[in-house]
Formats: sequence, C-alpha cells, structure tokens
Amino acid sequence: MKTLISEEKLSRRVVELAAEIRQHYEGRPLTIVGVLIGSVVFLADLIRRLDLPLRVELVQARSYRNGDTRPGPLVINLDLLSSDVRGRDVLLVDDIFDTGNTLWELLPQIDELGPTSVRTAVLLRKEGRCQVPMKPDFVAFDIPNTFVVGYGLDHRDMYRNLPYVAALEPADLGEESSR
Ligand code: 5GP
Ligand code: MG
Repeated sequence: MKTLISEEKLSRRVVELAAEIRQHYEGRPLTIVGVLIGSVVFLADLIRRLDLPLRVELVQARSYRNGDTRPGPLVINLDLLSSDVRGRDVLLVDDIFDTGNTLWELLPQIDELGPTSVRTAVLLRKEGRCQVPMKPDFVAFDIPNTFVVGYGLDHRDMYRNLPYVAALEPADLGEESSR
C-alpha cells in the first residue's frame, strides 16, 4: 500500500474546500446529504470546517460487490432521509467520483424531492474515468486511475479508518490479483 494523500494534505484541503462551499452559499442554510458509507470521514471533517447553518442527512449508494475492486449494479436507498429537503439548498457529499454513475443516478432522485438546488462535493475524482454528462461542483483532489482506500474508503470493508488515502498495490489485493 502506498500513501497517496497524507493526513496533513487532507486536512489542509478540507479547510480550503469548506471555504469554497461557504463562499458559494453565502450564509444560506444548507442540507448536506452524505452518501454512505464511504463519505463518512470526509463528511465529518468537512461539516466541522463549514461555517454555515446546516443540517446533515444520509443516503446509501452501493455498487461494489463481494469486496471486489470492480463495481457491480448500483443500489440507491433514500430511506434514511429524515427531514424535508423541499425548498432547501442540498449539497450531496460523496467520497469519490469515478465513472460518475452514482451521483448521476442520485441527482434526479434528490431533485424529485423539490429542493431549491442540488450540488455535489467529492473528496476525490479519478482522472479519465467519467462516463456521465456532469461534473462534481466541488472537488478536493484529482487522483490517477487507481484503486484507493482510507479516509472512509474501503476494500472488502477494511481500511476505512486509515487517516490518509492510500493506493492499493497488487500485493494488497491478495487472491483478487490472481483471478
Ligand atoms: P462511480 O459511480 O462514480 O463510478 O463510483 C463511485 C463510488 O464507487 C464511490 O462512492 C465509491 O464507493 C466507489 N469507488 C470508486 N472508486 C473507488 C476506489 O478507488 N476505491 C474505493 N474504495 N471505492 C471506490
Ligand atoms: Mg460510494
């Protein structure tokens, strides 16, 4: 495993990103909707740097099956949304924008609930992978096309608690690399 983004870099950039977001909303109340599970660490750090009146909500999106590093079918679950987002500015927060399919499918579902606006913020964006006609509004880091873990991101439900972002190397993938 190789460190890609250190703890210090993460924390510095989260402060900057929070300032960009705050500037955009100019003090208006915001509903932050985190996408489980990968966004939780980023979400927790971001909201503590965000000087705006805000609510926090969660939705679930899953695409990786059986701990694979290749995505399976996308399953979105909005059941955890507890407050009305009608007439609110919504910021969807996810861990990583890879093909973009997760946010692209999630956006219209949130839009149907009648928010004033829906924007997206991601910790990471993989270069050269986008398959959808949208770009995230706020991006903390662009990274090369490699499978990453840590700071909320997992491999087989492990490594979410690493305080930095690391690239998995073939040796870390164990039996998967021999498939
Ligand atoms: P997308 O729908 O943009 O292709 O993928 C977004 C989701 O796939 C992310 O929210 C994340 O759950 C998962 N994902 C994509 N790339 C990676 C990666 O490199 N590492 C991990 N752990 N998850 C990833
Ligand atoms: Mg995800």
